[in-house]
Amino acid sequence: MRLLDHLADLLKDIEAEGLYKRERLIAGPQGGRIDVASAGGTRSVVNLCSNNYLGLADHPDVIAAAKEGLDRFGFGMASVRFICGAQTLHRELECAIARYLGKDDAILFAACFDANGGVFEPLLGPEDAILSDALNHASIIDGIRLSKAKRYRYANSNMNALEDSLKEAIADGVRFKLIVTDGVFSMDGYIADLPAICDLAERYDALVMVDDCHATGHLGEKGRGTPALTGVGDRVHIVTGTLGKTLGGAMGGFVAAAQPVIDILRQRARPYLFSNSLAPAVAAGSLRAIEIAKSADDRRATLARHAERFRSAMASAGFELLPGSSPIIPVMLNDARLSQEMARALDARGVYVTGFFFPVVPKGRARIRTQISAALSDADIDYAVDAFKDAGKALGII
Ligand SMILES: *Cc1c(COP(=O)(O)O)cnc(C)c1O
Repeated sequence: MRLLDHLADLLKDIEAEGLYKRERLIAGPQGGRIDVASAGGTRSVVNLCSNNYLGLADHPDVIAAAKEGLDRFGFGMASVRFICGAQTLHRELECAIARYLGKDDAILFAACFDANGGVFEPLLGPEDAILSDALNHASIIDGIRLSKAKRYRYANSNMNALEDSLKEAIADGVRFKLIVTDGVFSMDGYIADLPAICDLAERYDALVMVDDCHATGHLGEKGRGTPALTGVGDRVHIVTGTLGKTLGGAMGGFVAAAQPVIDILRQRARPYLFSNSLAPAVAAGSLRAIEIAKSADDRRATLARHAERFRSAMASAGFELLPGSSPIIPVMLNDARLSQEMARALDARGVYVTGFFFPVVPKGRARIRTQISAALSDADIDYAVDAFKDAGKALGII
């Protein structure tokens, strides 16, 4: 009971600091426009905060493939792989991911959070080094904590700092060095400088791992992600990614890499060994989503066009945006409370967004992170910009 009192106090503190996260409910499928559940039923809003970059989350072919997977393979596996094995479907999906990303093989996890949680510990020991970008995803931070390797954190995309860390690791006499970075830093929309990272890796004899969750499917040639986009291709040794964003948006994560890396992960990665396989419907739908993504140049073009339309209209309206070329477009409000007020004002005007503030982003750098989707129409983009202008004027932002 003392714990319950303690938790109740903690919740009050979170609330008092204005940091309490309230979840909203959607009454239908994910999409460019969504039906949000509200007191009087539902209301249709323009969605600017999903990871549904290519709009595959409600694609009829993905849904049909998932239904077929359900009919052919049942509802669930009810076993981890080293006991009951996997279904042919799971193996097919792993091979499709490996082919798509140009790697020897791939291994599935229940989520990319698990892939990142399980990838480091089997590969590296206490005599090794992991060099990690300061803005890397929480799951990478946790995965590194679970490994026994020495840790070196370098300032976000700062190549001098990375070089210093590499030298430090060498001075410390480490055996293997692995540089780890997000392909796209999700709070800013910045793309990692992979050519410079690969140059340093090669100069200092390090390996490179990229978490490409916010890129696989929609960035680079055929959607092959930031290694393809930045022209480094197979100079990146390990790619982790998700099936829960562009590639259908259901769930599931993976590691794609050279054969011995994948083989050792099958032997030793704890979230793989001790957790159930993906549901067959999810595996089948994701497999179809990858096929669609590969040949979705039209959707990728729409996505880029929409992002440009939104970015330029918002800049001319006088909003402060972070520069960039990804479909993540942060609108800077800087003040935490203002970001919350702006999110509410946009909600009232039929635009679905979330205000981000400390500790998710640095203090004084609060923002509304918008994410563009190919599922939006030109009219949706214009509607959203008008809502931003109206709300921005009402709150004295522009
Ligand atoms: C979303 C995300 C993850 C987690 O992916 P899930 O499959 O949802 O667990 C990991 N890393 C990055 C960079 C992400 O953006």
